[in-house]
Amino acid sequence: MTQQSSFIYTHNLSKHFGKVKAVEAVNLEIQEGEFFALLGPSGCGKSTLLRMISGLEEVTSGQIHIGERDVTTMHPADRGIAMVFQSYALYPHMTVRENMGFGLKMSKVPSNEIDKKVNEAAEILHLEEYLDRKPKTLSGGQRQRVAIGRSIVRGPEVFLFDEPLSNLDAELRVEMRVEISRLHRELGTTIIYVTHDQVEAMTLADKIVVLKDGLIQQVGTPLSLYDDPENVFVAGFIGSPTINFVRGDINGSKLSIPSLKTIKLEIDQSIASSHSELLIGLRPQHLSLVESGDLEVEFTEALGDISYVYLKTANGERIVVESREEKLPSTGALVGIKAKASKALFFDPKTELRVK
Ligand code: ATP
Repeated sequence: MTQQSSFIYTHNLSKHFGKVKAVEAVNLEIQEGEFFALLGPSGCGKSTLLRMISGLEEVTSGQIHIGERDVTTMHPADRGIAMVFQSYALYPHMTVRENMGFGLKMSKVPSNEIDKKVNEAAEILHLEEYLDRKPKTLSGGQRQRVAIGRSIVRGPEVFLFDEPLSNLDAELRVEMRVEISRLHRELGTTIIYVTHDQVEAMTLADKIVVLKDGLIQQVGTPLSLYDDPENVFVAGFIGSPTINFVRGDINGSKLSIPSLKTIKLEIDQSIASSHSELLIGLRPQHLSLVESGDLEVEFTEALGDISYVYLKTANGERIVVESREEKLPSTGALVGIKAKASKALFFDPKTELRVK
């Protein structure tokens, strides 16, 4: 463990609620200034992990270090962190300025200093013109920015975000994503960000940890998780639309896909000699349509410059293909597909681990 170079690190961090192992032996290294996303489906333990780092949840075992300090049992207020939650709970009777400065006022910071800090935060968050308004006169996105402002004024070393955008509508989410990304660039502060939305994690984070059932599945940059997933779970969780999985049979040195006869893939001799069957992952982005074949077009989604074509194989498997063609096949038509062979991902069907 490179304690010196990583700003935050956790060592064998676990949290058990009775028999539920919410977080199990998690070792993470987060660098100073990094935007680090905790990603996984509901119940995978990401909020519990964040709450342990914040100090809101006691650990069952393991340690947490921030900078040089072991903060495992330290009071939340002493850890140099600020939390931003999905429900922003602003005080309705206070103006934006008062809401943002309230924590500092409680800590008996002199009022001219509070003013200075609130004005600086308002400038970063583009909230200057709203400072004298009450929360009810603001949009959801503006309120979320005020909630972030409350944290910024305290000058934390680390921001912890717990699904901050999940209460906002789709358009606002995209807008706030841009805002949070800009904020991270301007403040340069370490951010740990919990989300179940892989697009949010992929677009915002420098690095992502994918969790399942309290266990780390993989840690990496967004593109390394997309291009080089270590198991079926990560391959299926990252990427939109979801990666297609089909069965492949190995005979001698040849790999064939019974449901996709038009696709030819090469495998290394070492894989061929150690497996008789593979699970093959083919991303919709790495497939294209060809005219003749036995795949039935179930429906198509035209989104403008790209479209998704949903196909059914003769034995009932579903395949999605991304297409940039203007003319799409009609529902019920029979088509074939070809694949960018170098992008195919192979997995062991039993262990679900990547085979390279
Ligand atoms: P979500 O996205 O739904 O919030 P999550 O990935 O953040 O999910 P956690 O909230 O960390 O997941 O929960 C992880 C597991 O721990 C779940 O099985 C949950 O039911 C359990 N859990 C969380 N808090 C408690 C608690 N206070 N008591 C008992 N079990 C808990």
